[in-house]
Amino acid sequence: HYAANTHGFVGADLESLARESAMNALRRIRPELDLESEEIDADVLESLQVSEGDFKEALKGIQPSAMREVFVEVPDVTWNDVGGLGDTKERLRETIQWPLDYPQVFETLDMEAAKGVLMYGPPGTGKTLLAKAVANEAESNFISIKGPELLNKYVGESEKGVREVFEKARSNAPTVIFFDEIDSIAGERGQRQGDSGVGERVVSQLLTELDGLEELEDVVVIATTNRPDLIDSALLRPGRLDRHVHVPVPDEDGRKKIFEVHTRDKPLADAVDLDWLASETEGYVGADIEAVTREASMAASREFINSVDPEEMDDTIGNVRISKEHFEHALEEINPSVTPETRERYEEIEEEFQQAE
Ligand code: ADP
Repeated sequence: HYAANTHGFVGADLESLARESAMNALRRIRPELDLESEEIDADVLESLQVSEGDFKEALKGIQPSAMREVFVEVPDVTWNDVGGLGDTKERLRETIQWPLDYPQVFETLDMEAAKGVLMYGPPGTGKTLLAKAVANEAESNFISIKGPELLNKYVGESEKGVREVFEKARSNAPTVIFFDEIDSIAGERGQRQGDSGVGERVVSQLLTELDGLEELEDVVVIATTNRPDLIDSALLRPGRLDRHVHVPVPDEDGRKKIFEVHTRDKPLADAVDLDWLASETEGYVGADIEAVTREASMAASREFINSVDPEEMDDTIGNVRISKEHFEHALEEINPSVTPETRERYEEIEEEFQQAE
């Protein structure tokens, strides 16, 4: 019961809640006690029982910390940190960065600036990275909200949460609002997490906010999903999340470019060939490639640290390299997250979604 009523509480909040519940119990059985200054007898403490009422009373006074703040950040990701995805970057640059950078062009040519973009593709393909890069390159602030978080963080007040996010975005404009995993709140009925009408209200609040955004008000929404076919279609209509950008599983050339990004500051042995790595990594998405590189670096560090006398480390550190064997080991450890079957399923979903557009 306690656990179910404390969404969004961190450890420290729970500690306060437990303390306050106990205080309430004490006040209840010994209203005459001055809890601030008086010693409490051991036998009183022993007989103390926290009731549901004490707990509920305490709950009224304690806000989960996760709920107190909508964080505005300025990301430091640039286009250079995103490997491949050339067309996708171009689309985002035109839809989001240009209206923010060159509003006069849009006004003069009477073009509608996008209010919202839906990015779709399997997890780990770089959607978050792209959103951060476009915000950074457009010199915008960035507010990131995860769909499930919105439901948990603002229990019973998710609509208010949405309103607060947009208010914060306006007062910090230009701002990119990033709604990650939007299907968890805006999926079609029945698909949402623990749906109890909350999804409905959140979607309707989102629609209100999107419709209320004035053009060129310098607030843009980017939402992501790996199930575009499940998004409430009202959200995808013109003037809302009406630009749809596919972030695909990388092909061989894409994978090579992602390896380039992740190895550019690392000492590689001559035998490590990025073409080879790209050809060995069918089905690996950007997040998997990052993991492979991290694992290979770890293997190199393990080998170096275990073989070198700590006294001589500074003199020999210049020789450390990530070898082909280290990458082979990493490829054994890290599996591709997209199997041919999953990939096929995604392609089907995407085709259906594109046809429905
Ligand atoms: P998504 O939002 O699509 O689930 P992310 O953008 O969070 O994926 O990617 C997770 C991590 O994987 C990134 O922080 C980055 O290190 C790596 N990654 C994913 N795609 C790329 C890419 N195209 N280029 C470089 N790194 C990538």
